[in-house]
Amino acid sequence: MARYDLAVLNGTAVIPYTGAVRCDIGIREGRIAALADAIDPAQAADIVDARDRLVFPGAVDSHFHLGIYRSMSEDAESETRSALAGGVTTVVSYFRTGQHYLNKSGPYREIFPEVLAYTDGRAHTDYGFHVAIMTSQQLEEVDWLVRTQGVASFKYYMFYKGLNLTADSTRGSDYTMSDSYDLGHLYLFMQQVAAASQRYGDAGRISLSLHCEHAELIRIFIEEVKRTGPGGLEGYHKARPPLTERLSMAEAVILADASRCPVNLLHLSSREAVTAASEAKRDYPHLDVRLETTLHHLALTYATAGGMVGKVNPPIRTEDDRHALWEAVLDGRIDTVVSDHACCFEEQKGEDLWKALPGFGGTALLYPYLISEGHLRRGLPLTRIAELAGANSARAFALYPRKGTIAPGSDADLTIIDLDRELTVAPEVLQSAQDFTPFAGMKVRGWPMQTILRGRVVFDNGAVTGKAGGRYIRRPVAMHTEQPVAAG
Ligand SMILES: [Zn+2]
Repeated sequence: MARYDLAVLNGTAVIPYTGAVRCDIGIREGRIAALADAIDPAQAADIVDARDRLVFPGAVDSHFHLGIYRSMSEDAESETRSALAGGVTTVVSYFRTGQHYLNKSGPYREIFPEVLAYTDGRAHTDYGFHVAIMTSQQLEEVDWLVRTQGVASFKYYMFYKGLNLTADSTRGSDYTMSDSYDLGHLYLFMQQVAAASQRYGDAGRISLSLHCEHAELIRIFIEEVKRTGPGGLEGYHKARPPLTERLSMAEAVILADASRCPVNLLHLSSREAVTAASEAKRDYPHLDVRLETTLHHLALTYATAGGMVGKVNPPIRTEDDRHALWEAVLDGRIDTVVSDHACCFEEQKGEDLWKALPGFGGTALLYPYLISEGHLRRGLPLTRIAELAGANSARAFALYPRKGTIAPGSDADLTIIDLDRELTVAPEVLQSAQDFTPFAGMKVRGWPMQTILRGRVVFDNGAVTGKAGGRYIRRPVAMHTEQPVAAG
């Protein structure tokens, strides 16, 4: 009988925090069982030849929006296909009650099992959920979500403040379907997450992710841009300027300090935001603060993002902002790079800037874009790419070392990348249901030839193979998973 179910031979493994190592990888029962100088092909039931290729850990795209604008089941199916095409094997998706998603509110004890039911058996990657506590009733569900549902991370939207102010304040707004969504709610929310971190933090990080844009400043800047322009994406940038990221970040970080809540500052989009986030880390060295940026904020400016289709929150900004983000990626201040994938259709963008749905997909570009523009153009080490797109996200969101690395005992989630394969970005290349892409026309080099999920080749030579085999991963994994079977 073969010693390994699958062996990846002749490749160079890019191992986070370690380096690039020429080795063969033996896989048994979905996990990595051995890294060796050489594995005898006769010892493996199946073989992937990775000669002249790089073997990366499957990426962990930790900012995803399954089912925000389409049915959750459809998105789980089609958008995780797109993930595999770019070497992503785990997505961590945001979920909240209110408008979009399931378009309703209520206790998570009723709604979260529905979310799991809609996605069960649909996804091609493994997946988890960050949950946004939207109502005061949901506040007391934080502990239950961590302990019984495997939710290790949460979200608060700084810019929804005010959206709950309606004439009938007991009903809450149509959008958030919340009773009170403001800094008071955030403070209580942080206390809950900090308490869960105290209780369960030994098993993995419990944290709160923050979308930092300032509701009250956005209000006045939008009014000004509507009055005097400019139009288009430049107008959108000016309507939600970097100052709003900076001020809301300052508020959030003071509350994080008061509650000792571990936080993630999401999708930093500007020089001002990355400077403010770096200063927060300097001023509050005892706090656990992680910095995230997105592919589109690294890649695009309001002049190059293709017009209305490039509308996203926070907005795509200027060339100077893009450079500042790249500097922070290169010097190590940014911890994670994500896609913020939110599948929608060009027709949902429409002609009216203020009515267009924000967001778009990009998960298939995670490794290829970082390799092209990070490694090949700017000299970003491959090992750092494996950290930014995989290991750092896995650590931040309590998936490590089961996900995000190449080590005995870890899930055998791998992607085999050909550094010489160049493609021009178009919707077909990304294999998403989305019918457009703001990245269209970009030449990108370094694409996956195969992607392997828990020891099964699920993407091969440009196509997803087989049926959806992704599983919901309960986090922290050390708390919710049985110990791996000892390799030997
Ligand atoms: Zn998002």
